[in-house]
Amino acid sequence: MLHPFLKEECIPDRNVVLRSQGIPENHGFPEIEMLLEQAISVFEQLIKPVGIFLPVSKVEFQRILAGEGQNEDMLPLEKIVENGKSFQLFAFTMGKPVSQKIGELLKISDYPLAYMLDAVASRGVEKVAESATRIVLHKTADHADDRSLMYSPGYCGWHLTAQKKLFDALKPQAIGISLTEDALMQPIKSISGVIVTGSKEVHSFKNNFPFCRTCVSKNCRERIRNL
Ligand code: SF4
Repeated sequence: MLHPFLKEECIPDRNVVLRSQGIPENHGFPEIEMLLEQAISVFEQLIKPVGIFLPVSKVEFQRILAGEGQNEDMLPLEKIVENGKSFQLFAFTMGKPVSQKIGELLKISDYPLAYMLDAVASRGVEKVAESATRIVLHKTADHADDRSLMYSPGYCGWHLTAQKKLFDALKPQAIGISLTEDALMQPIKSISGVIVTGSKEVHSFKNNFPFCRTCVSKNCRERIRNL
């Protein structure tokens, strides 16, 4: 199922963009504010936000999760899927023009605007992902305790090469997303994976997997806290 998103749904909160760059809210630099305004304006003009969803069975998703056999020995998503109720493959993109613009700005060494636009676009993708998760929860939850969370290849032991099986099933080429040989998405401001719906407890786990030792973000903790 194709799902167009409104541009307004994609504009990230300014403070979220600043924080993602390590800039405090009350930084006191008008130049930074102007740069942020300019980046948001360019972003709004260029984006073409669209998503695609596909519900799959648990067995079908477990086949996709296994990917090309390069996952870590154990991963949190295996247990989450075992106990989850519903599984929606998804992909969203902000479209080619905004990704191209970031590349062009880097080429002409306009690094401040390039990095600010990159940050705005990344936070915009996250915002759309959150709104898509809410849509899926609304459609699939059958209990007040149910929660939906998004999981993507390339994170938490799920190898990036699993994108290949995910793309074979979902076919996000229909919304202009393709995969490179290295399993990276084009346009770069895109996101893909699965949205799992299950009880709150289903999404909780201890982050004591071997690969967690080298994880800098530890952002699973915040996701679980916010359930
Ligand atoms: S600590 Fe990092 S790698 Fe480990 S599960 Fe959490 S986010 Fe994933």
